[in-house]
Amino acid sequence: MDRAAITQIKTICPGRVSLDVDLGAMSWWEIGGKVRVMACPASIKEVQQLRYFAAQQNIPTLILGGMSNLLITDRSIDALCIRLGNSFADFDHRPGAATIGFQSGAWVPMVARALQQRGLSGLEHICGIPGTVGGLVMMNGGSMRRGIGSHVVTVKSVDRLGNIVSRNREECDFAYRSSVFSGQDEVIGEVDLKLEPGDSEAMRREMIDILRSRRLKFPRKFPNCGSVFKSNPASYAKFGPPGVLIERMGWKGAERGDAQVSPLHANFIINRGRAKAAEILELIGEIRQSVEEGLGHRMEPEVRFVRSDGRIEDIAQAYRAHLAGAEL
Ligand SMILES: Cc1cc2nc3c(=O)[nH]c(=O)nc-3n(C[C@H](O)[C@H](O)[C@H](O)COP(=O)(O)OP(=O)(O)OC[C@H]3O[C@@H](n4cnc5c(N)ncnc54)[C@H](O)[C@@H]3O)c2cc1C
Repeated sequence: MDRAAITQIKTICPGRVSLDVDLGAMSWWEIGGKVRVMACPASIKEVQQLRYFAAQQNIPTLILGGMSNLLITDRSIDALCIRLGNSFADFDHRPGAATIGFQSGAWVPMVARALQQRGLSGLEHICGIPGTVGGLVMMNGGSMRRGIGSHVVTVKSVDRLGNIVSRNREECDFAYRSSVFSGQDEVIGEVDLKLEPGDSEAMRREMIDILRSRRLKFPRKFPNCGSVFKSNPASYAKFGPPGVLIERMGWKGAERGDAQVSPLHANFIINRGRAKAAEILELIGEIRQSVEEGLGHRMEPEVRFVRSDGRIEDIAQAYRAHLAGAEL
């Protein structure tokens, strides 16, 4: 990216552009190379301007939230990263109303807290998920086999050319851990949610219980990206959660360099120090293949892969490219 382009990006997001940002220091797996330019917009208008400019200049764009669901290449990424985070995390609620609007950079545990304080019930299950609202809507994330999608009223996003697209819940195509956004090149900007009236104190107690049970179940000592494979309801009924299948095939505790299948929970891969993206990728690919061969079930990865050209792709696809010798 040339200096003129960087100057223009700085004009669009004054004071919120950084160069050569080390993603390894920010991602939840603590893995990743540097990205050339990171811009943190503070309004949907700025997102539109960034996207319009990048499209005009043919600049590859990488959309990031909290980086808690991404395996990032160790190589440098020559792209414009649009990071939705603290600078884009406001919410809008009229006292007594059942709906509440969030900007997509809002931090999910803080969203859960804001809802609890207002007695807006239904999304207590998201209180321990370390990500942004945009990332959660993108994959219809949630816990206890529920997803945020069932509370979405509308989502406003920005397409590649900078146009605003507005969708109601049906148009978002929410399904188990997926949405229309998984296959679109759009930045989720604003999300309106609808909730039920609830007792704030009972909600607080439920959230404490959820956090306590997550603390016991999930590895906390080493960096990780949460569940590696999706647990879909059909396979859950037949086999149980993915961790059980992985354990049955003997992968619990398996290591590749500093990457290790967590000895506590087999659907988590931890970074015990200096794990490389390729090592995690190989573990994921081999586990998936072995479960398919041994138990006849093809698990779908939940985490996605960020390539050095800025593209985010399905991790199974990235693994195939890696095996074929591609420099990712
Ligand atoms: C310890 C731990 C526990 C976890 N537990 C859970 C859990 O219980 N349930 C669950 O569902 N997930 C869980 N996760 C995974 C993760 O936290 C969620 O998927 C989260 O919603 C990802 O949000 P993010 O902002 O970090 O997205 P990122 O990881 O930054 O990005 C993930 C994907 O979303 C896209 N994206 C992000 N923001 C936007 C946006 N504004 N517009 C368009 N696309 C966007 C990115 O391009 C990327 O494709 C866990 C992760 C960890 C580390």
